[in-house]
Amino acid sequence: MKCMVCNVINGAEQAHVLRDTDDIIAYRSLTPLTPVHIIIAPKKHIPSLTALTPQDAEVIAKIFLLIPELAREKAIFQCGFRVIANTGPDAGEEELNPHLHFHLLGGTTLTNYLA
Ligand SMILES: [Zn+2]
Repeated sequence: MKCMVCNVINGAEQAHVLRDTDDIIAYRSLTPLTPVHIIIAPKKHIPSLTALTPQDAEVIAKIFLLIPELAREKAIFQCGFRVIANTGPDAGEEELNPHLHFHLLGGTTLTNYLA
């Protein structure tokens, strides 16, 4: 089944990739809402926050250590940023075949941006 994040990982979908490690991909959003809008995801196809297991703890910790690093690179470390993981239909988890990912938003005042 089509998965946008897996397609970026396997190169079927073109993206501006900022990090490509053994277990994490980070790339500029294909549909950016803000001047800085980065998608950070585990390479493993984890469908949702609700599907996490204790075995995923390390990769999730790595993602949260990477986020401030990316914020620093994009010069939003001091002025502020927002991190969002949409989970389930009420949150607008948008795909038929969702793949857990975090939105890093910044570069503007974020009052109304909920990714
Ligand atoms: Zn996937």
